[in-house]
Amino acid sequence: MRSFLLAVALVAAGCAGSSPASDEITVFATTPILGDIVRNIAGDQVTVEVLMPVGADPHSFQPSVRQVADLRDADVVIANGLDLEESILDILQDVAQDGTRLLEVGSLADPLPFKDAPETLDPHVWLDPVRGIAIAQAVAGELGRLLPAGAAAFTARQTEYAGRLKAIDAQIATQLASVVNRTIVTNHEALGYFADRYDLEVIGSISPGGSSAGEPSGRDLADLADAIEEHGVNAIFTDVGGSRRLAEVLAGELDRPIAVVEVFTGTFGQEGSGADTYLGLLETNGARVAEALS
Ligand SMILES: [Zn+2]
Repeated sequence: MRSFLLAVALVAAGCAGSSPASDEITVFATTPILGDIVRNIAGDQVTVEVLMPVGADPHSFQPSVRQVADLRDADVVIANGLDLEESILDILQDVAQDGTRLLEVGSLADPLPFKDAPETLDPHVWLDPVRGIAIAQAVAGELGRLLPAGAAAFTARQTEYAGRLKAIDAQIATQLASVVNRTIVTNHEALGYFADRYDLEVIGSISPGGSSAGEPSGRDLADLADAIEEHGVNAIFTDVGGSRRLAEVLAGELDRPIAVVEVFTGTFGQEGSGADTYLGLLETNGARVAEALS
């Protein structure tokens, strides 16, 4: 009975979505950060849904059955790709194979390999605002193909948004210009693109393997402590919403005090945190990194 009702509901939803009287399209973004970029480009004719709630780790998020059904009903699913959404790779692949368009923006934003795993591309492209512009361009192009009548408006919004991203990029570069020791350590290897953009050097990360899920050995932590001493690193950057425990353990192993500073990597902060939009997240991270290293 239950599955019968579900089937009826899906058919009904399918009919509504394909009604020629409606030019509304539905876009599903995987992360809140991608969702915010899409909303800034999309305007009223596009319904934007976001799969992961604020605070969810994009590496380990598990959707409900209902959410997977909603993904299948979307006109396009916009994902980061490059294995960011590592816990739902099968679901995304299934949805795409069943005919839902899947746009993966990470590979369109000039991806670089991980420093610690050169055979693997680093998915955290959005933490460089210039790559954020490439993401916004890809989104505007996709929306314009889906809804040609809106293409000019999508492009205009994307151009305006790119201007704001360029301004934040210049602001962060200015804030970091006078930093002398530019070496940093991160909780997981999320800040590679930020470091690439602003000429910082990530000398190591606590979680191995580019994911937030990797557990370091005691030997890994001891080696990282040695590298911190050798380079005179002034701050360990952890992920807001992630665990600070190992960063505190590492800090405790050192002969001198070191700052343990939270930055927003895979998701937003709560409303009012200053990091509840993509632009705000970038500004907040830039200011925190500059303060910690100055
Ligand atoms: Zn990550």
